[in-house]
Amino acid sequence: MTHPVSARPRPGAPSPDPVVRRVQERYHKLLDEGADPHEWPYAWRTELNRGGFRAVDFLMREIVDTGKCIGCASCLTICPVDVFDYEDERPADTRTEACVYCVLCAEVCPVLRPVDKDLPRMLHFRDPQLDEGYGTYSYAMYTRSTDAEILGRGQDGGMVSALMIHGLETGTLGGAILGDVLPDNNQIGTHTLAMTRPEVLACAASRYTYSANTLALQEAMRRDIKPLAVVGVPCQVDGVRLQQNSSIRLEMANWYRDNISLVVGLFCSEAFTHESIIKLGEMIDVAPERIDNINIKGKVVIRLDDGEVREASLKRYRDFARPACLYCLDYGAENADLAAGGIGLDGWTYTLVRTEEGHRALQAAIDDGWLETRPLSDEPRGEFLMNRLSAAKKVNRPLPAQMPTHQERERLGWLDPKTFYTKGPGAPPPPPEEAESAST
Ligand SMILES: Cc1cc2nc3c(=O)[nH]c(=O)nc-3n(C[C@H](O)[C@H](O)[C@H](O)COP(=O)(O)OP(=O)(O)OC[C@H]3O[C@@H](n4cnc5c(N)ncnc54)[C@H](O)[C@@H]3O)c2cc1C
Ligand code: SF4
Ligand code: SF4
Repeated sequence: MTHPVSARPRPGAPSPDPVVRRVQERYHKLLDEGADPHEWPYAWRTELNRGGFRAVDFLMREIVDTGKCIGCASCLTICPVDVFDYEDERPADTRTEACVYCVLCAEVCPVLRPVDKDLPRMLHFRDPQLDEGYGTYSYAMYTRSTDAEILGRGQDGGMVSALMIHGLETGTLGGAILGDVLPDNNQIGTHTLAMTRPEVLACAASRYTYSANTLALQEAMRRDIKPLAVVGVPCQVDGVRLQQNSSIRLEMANWYRDNISLVVGLFCSEAFTHESIIKLGEMIDVAPERIDNINIKGKVVIRLDDGEVREASLKRYRDFARPACLYCLDYGAENADLAAGGIGLDGWTYTLVRTEEGHRALQAAIDDGWLETRPLSDEPRGEFLMNRLSAAKKVNRPLPAQMPTHQERERLGWLDPKTFYTKGPGAPPPPPEEAESAST
């Protein structure tokens, strides 16, 4: 079924550069003709044989200027000549004149197109390869750190931090790409390369604002820190996978492919704007800087700096969901080695093992006594929520390239990513009987 607002996606403004314009036209022709999404990259790959083109202009016009950028930062971390800066959760094309026409930034943008069909070959999904609507996985369970300090600092069961510290201390990891917090605001994240237990612990727990963790990849590569783990939300996982699996084999792509050994994805319904922290403070009548931790459990659970716990309505907080999260259909980090979330048992991490690498890392931590486990059957609601929340993120949604731009959504008066395709302008029209009774 086509959607009323997505039947003809609007192209970004045409570039004055004729080659970039040719790529734009080719890309939109493929979209309009309903070509297989895995063929969309031909729009830019065909230009490579003719010497490439200024792909940064294409990316800025199609994704950034249209407000479709989800901020994953993979265009920045793959660029061999540092064309971009990162500002306001998106790339800024500060040094376009440095562009070497390698086309990598377009190649790795998860909004322009879905990941390649051959990605599973690189990922080595572990048998049995189950698929219940949230990506291939082998098995799932609740896990929790056996270390009181890690458990106390973690968002849920502290599994993610425990796994990172275990890897660093046993030598299977040389570094971990994580999200730290700004010194003067502990609800705003920033990227970091952690190499010690205290550094990992400083990053533990979740910030619900966007943190482009993967910006730290450049430092890891420069310092040749490996093997490397990456922790991030699903959009970042896809960005990393596109970089590792790029068909354009330049130094950066090769380094990421060879040296990122473990990718841990965090389940994600949506992230929130920076303004959301101020608004949340207003909702519970405290100064925002007193908010020590936020956890979302069907409601917003807020721990203050003195340990007091308050609650706020998730429905109201959702008014501050990040609009760019509309362009993302992945709840369960479907291309990660391991995926983790807080659904189900309180104080435990719902853990999905997807690949052989994920299995090896998790089992090593379990075998060394760093993690304890419980079966999902101890709290079946976790699995129920996994199904429901994953489905909610895909229902009615076309691929991001086929969705309206941010500006079009503004004109439609509906920026909420959660409801755009369920209750908003993207929802399918009601069946004729319902439409008739509504109009009488
Ligand atoms: C924006 C966001 C939305 C989420 N939404 C859901 C959800 O809808 N349902 C669900 O079940 N779980 C969700 N999670 C995951 C959940 O909050 C926990 O991260 C997960 O359960 C792992 O818990 P843990 O105790 O094992 O992790 P910990 O040991 O506490 O480690 C957490 C790791 O997350 C990283 N991190 C913290 N904040 C961010 C951020 N903003 N962006 C990227 N990385 C970050 C840190 O670097 C740290 O390494 C979300 C997480 C984030 C960051
Ligand atoms: S979605 Fe990611 S790769 Fe695409 S433009 Fe934004 S930051 Fe760059
Ligand atoms: S909803 Fe998607 S785009 Fe938004 S932060 Fe989560 S993973 Fe990224």
